[in-house]
Amino acid sequence: MVVGAQAREIDTVVIGSGPGGYVAAIRAADLGKKVVIIERDNIGGVCLNIGCIPLKALINVGHRYREATEETPFGLITSGATLDWQQTQNWKQNKVVHTLTSGVEMLLKKHHVEIVKGEAVFNDNETVNVLQEDGHELLQFNNAIIATGSRPIEIPTIPFGGRIVDSTGALAFTEIPKKLIIIGGGVIGSEIGGAYANLGAQVTIIEGLDHTLNGFDSEMTKPVLDDFKAHGGVIVTSAIAKKATQTDTEVTLVYEADGKEQSITGDYLLVAVGRRANTDGLGLNNTDIKVDSKGLIIKDDTMRTSVPHIYAIGDIVAGPQLAHKASFEGKIAAAAIAEDAQARDLHYSLPSVAYTQYELATTGETPDSVKVNHLDAKISKFPFVGNGRAISMDQAVGFVRLISDKSSNALIGAQVVGPAASDLISELSLAIENGLTTKDISLTIHPHPTLGEAIMDAAELADGLPIHI
Ligand SMILES: Cc1cc2nc3c(=O)[nH]c(=O)nc-3n(C[C@H](O)[C@H](O)[C@H](O)COP(=O)(O)OP(=O)(O)OC[C@H]3O[C@@H](n4cnc5c(N)ncnc54)[C@H](O)[C@@H]3O)c2cc1C
Repeated sequence: MVVGAQAREIDTVVIGSGPGGYVAAIRAADLGKKVVIIERDNIGGVCLNIGCIPLKALINVGHRYREATEETPFGLITSGATLDWQQTQNWKQNKVVHTLTSGVEMLLKKHHVEIVKGEAVFNDNETVNVLQEDGHELLQFNNAIIATGSRPIEIPTIPFGGRIVDSTGALAFTEIPKKLIIIGGGVIGSEIGGAYANLGAQVTIIEGLDHTLNGFDSEMTKPVLDDFKAHGGVIVTSAIAKKATQTDTEVTLVYEADGKEQSITGDYLLVAVGRRANTDGLGLNNTDIKVDSKGLIIKDDTMRTSVPHIYAIGDIVAGPQLAHKASFEGKIAAAAIAEDAQARDLHYSLPSVAYTQYELATTGETPDSVKVNHLDAKISKFPFVGNGRAISMDQAVGFVRLISDKSSNALIGAQVVGPAASDLISELSLAIENGLTTKDISLTIHPHPTLGEAIMDAAELADGLPIHI
């Protein structure tokens, strides 16, 4: 403890106001705790300020621009489009991001969560010091939830700065790049690449693995990659980025592929090679909290760390770095603090989405996990070319794939590629979590014409009684 400092006593302290922290704080307050949330930057964390939301805004602008500039098969003739990029950025920042972050701030206040601005550093297992511009405040807590999120990983030989940017920089470009180079073809790299490709940039993705969009199988990614390449995108796989040099107007990346050193020049270079947990600098060495070799905080299925009254959630614990995972874990931690005996992470399916040109979504088991785990499963796939709504939208690309247990017919996994995959996947997660069978799904009336009918059709296929295929 800081000598001479008087600690203020708080029941529950939440560190970080991203989708993990703010949700945990509101839930803990509603469960009767006096809660303080500490945030060193903007309320809303990565997701609302510099992640999910602003990126989805730019992806949307990309779709609209492409629609306005491409030929349609249904005779809509437009004379091209011009984009006021400054207005796009203003809209994204002032309307989209600001609306949501100020909304979260309002919600925190409405639920009686006190916001303390500053950088939290643990002094010991009971106190946290909040460093502020003009001093510091010491808080003594009964419970704490750590939700400090993650930050982009920097390649030591390719430091961020100037024309070499991380995802935050790529979302804030003051102009649309003409030639954008991206190191890393994961979800973030591919989503940003797809958005700028739709806005007219020539995009090259340099990926270390032998495939991009890791986490989604090649049957799923094919339509996305075909489309990306058809629109001038280039993907170099099994390539290792070595170094980069830049001038005032361009940046050159040297990489190794096919055993040869090669180089590429563009006007911007985005490095999107993963994110590191924000657990350093938190003063964890002053506590008994244990971290693993990757710096992730070790916790149990109630989100409790090795210090029983301190919990950890979101990007700083194991599992995919996803906003909805962080929020889900936040609700578990809050319930555990409120001594709810049911507070346990018992999820079977964790949906994951890529907002590429054709959306990719997966939940529960996949054809690969079925093989690896030797599950006795049945796979049924219904293509959107057999779906009236998709055809009438001129978006009959992709499919719904269901994976069900062979003996019980219970749904254990599902994937969707195509229009509104990000929305359709929720019905499938709901079915999995509730043990529904393919028969339950096929006997559920789905309105016509909807994209959701493809789910019913895939279930009928699994039941051996397909109508539309
Ligand atoms: C470009 C991009 C796009 C993404 N798109 C999606 C998507 O579409 N869907 C999805 O599910 N996920 C997406 N993600 C991932 C998602 O943003 C994260 O998984 C999510 O934000 C993690 O939430 P969190 O609460 O763990 O932490 P964060 O959102 O990272 O919030 C942590 C907060 O803690 C604060 N903090 C850190 N240390 C301290 C400290 N010592 N004291 C006080 N405050 C501190 C930080 O300032 C930050 O505000 C995206 C990420 C990026 C970068």
